[in-house]
Amino acid sequence: MIALSINAVHKQFPGVKALNGIELSVKQGEFFGLLGPNGAGKSTLINIIAGLTKADSGTISVMGYDVTTHFREARKNLGIVPQELVFDPYLTVREAIRIQAGYYGVGKEGYRWIDEIIDELMLSDKANTNMRALSGGMKRRVLVAQALAHKPPLIVLDEPTAGVDVELRRSLWAFIKRLHKEGSTVILTTHYLEEAESFCDRIGIINHGELIALDSTANLIAGGIASMSRLRISTTNSEHTLPDAVKHLLIDSTNKNELVFEFNRSQYSVLNIIDALRASNIAITDIHTEHADLEDVFLSLTSNTKT
Ligand code: ADP
Ligand code: MG
Repeated sequence: MIALSINAVHKQFPGVKALNGIELSVKQGEFFGLLGPNGAGKSTLINIIAGLTKADSGTISVMGYDVTTHFREARKNLGIVPQELVFDPYLTVREAIRIQAGYYGVGKEGYRWIDEIIDELMLSDKANTNMRALSGGMKRRVLVAQALAHKPPLIVLDEPTAGVDVELRRSLWAFIKRLHKEGSTVILTTHYLEEAESFCDRIGIINHGELIALDSTANLIAGGIASMSRLRISTTNSEHTLPDAVKHLLIDSTNKNELVFEFNRSQYSVLNIIDALRASNIAITDIHTEHADLEDVFLSLTSNTKT
């Protein structure tokens, strides 16, 4: 079963092509990460999924319901935590969450679940406080609670931890992980690559409105750019002649006592390089290796593209 299906979605704002033919499916039960630099089009896509913005062309369905022709059904299956904090300042925390749930037909029978969410998100002390009196981090918790109050099978979080303290990040992730374990599909956009790396099964990278990478998190890290390694070797020889076998891998020798090599792990190993250096009587005093991670993949994919 497909939880979210996005087909050839385009969106033009005055002077900006925000989305340029996005194609993406997320299966039920997946934990999916949508990454991309500021202005890439992530929130525009999420707003279209939520029915807040209209696409110029293309279709989106949530749990099989088209978000334009079957808006109510689609919306009922969806819990969205928007990037922007928008609230009625005069409602208390509990009222804000109950009213939101009411839009999706949740009445008194849902109050127990709402109190459980309030508890999980550590909002209990503030349940009767007016929204306008809350800090930004607390407001963010209420947004999350509102998105989850009608128990939607698909949860979409747009930068839920941007500018949020460590404590909330931890409690938020514990709760989201629990819901995922219990069967929810989760889609997350984030700037924090470590979060995506540790939680997401699959990652899409969006840049200038186009999906430029889509793969399992493991493949993204293991394949392509991420299979590059860097090897720093400290040596006591200040004059050395590098063997031909590794000469072309040298990327930096500005520091006389340090050689920096960059190589693809599918073609070379650290041992190959060290053996070649030893064979040429280069004395090695220290070795340091660095492997590319998701951050490197992200940077190299999003850096030298058109602006
Ligand atoms: P992200 O969430 O990835 O940071 P957005 O989807 O917010 O990116 O923005 C994508 C692009 O569309 C940006 O260039 C942004 O300035 C532009 N944009 C977003 N919303 C609007 C709007 N309502 N009117 C005009 N331009 C917009
Ligand atoms: Mg955004």
